[in-house]
Amino acid sequence: MRIARFTTGDDPAYGIVQGDPGTEVITPLAGDPLYIGLQPSGGDPVLLEDVRLLAPVIPRSKIVAIGKNYADHAKEMGGEAPAEPMMFFKPNTSVVGPFDPVVLPAGSSEISYEGELAVVIKTITKGVKAENAAECIYGYTIANDVTARDWQRTDGQWARAKGFDTSCPLGPWIETELDPSDLAIVTTLDGDVKQDGTTADMIHGIGAIIEHASAAFTLLPGDVILTGTPAGVGLVEAGQQVTVEIAGIGSLTNTFVRR
Ligand code: MG
Repeated sequence: MRIARFTTGDDPAYGIVQGDPGTEVITPLAGDPLYIGLQPSGGDPVLLEDVRLLAPVIPRSKIVAIGKNYADHAKEMGGEAPAEPMMFFKPNTSVVGPFDPVVLPAGSSEISYEGELAVVIKTITKGVKAENAAECIYGYTIANDVTARDWQRTDGQWARAKGFDTSCPLGPWIETELDPSDLAIVTTLDGDVKQDGTTADMIHGIGAIIEHASAAFTLLPGDVILTGTPAGVGLVEAGQQVTVEIAGIGSLTNTFVRR
């Protein structure tokens, strides 16, 4: 099932997306399905093309992201992949939705895209073993872990390099029924394929990541885990458009701007 968050001009609402590409409709829900389940609002279904999709989830407390979780990406960054999942945070204020602009931050001249599979947490998750991790997952969406490479080099900590406003596009919706073990993940820059990988190449699988993360801190419903990016990262300039497509979910497109 595909759960979207959207607006038709009024307050944001959640809905279930159904139908074939090009003719999808959204059936509105009464509230956030993460908290109250799937309760129809009673409102009429609306055409997907008539709504503006928003980020399908605003992480309640945090986005936990995994660095260098694909060997070919670790290699292109000039290092070995770490033996254990290497974690960092992105703040929930970094989240934007499909087709929202990503604003290149003043003071950085090296902004990169990183297409990633994102995991949305369903339950309060603490001390969960890998084999039980599926019970803690609400679904999957697509992320772009936008990164200021120059700040990543100069700052030591990655808070600014990976946490600036608009640095975490999420969308287009949450797919709740998906086997994430071998999904094609393709990132294009103005239509040119830059990343062409598969989630099968993750070094640390989703279960292992949840075990490792939840050993350190409690994950809350609506928190999001970014699972790392395959090889092919590169710089993006103002005016360019990045699309991340993951098989079984859909695609997430954002245009980069400078203000
Ligand atoms: Mg990343």
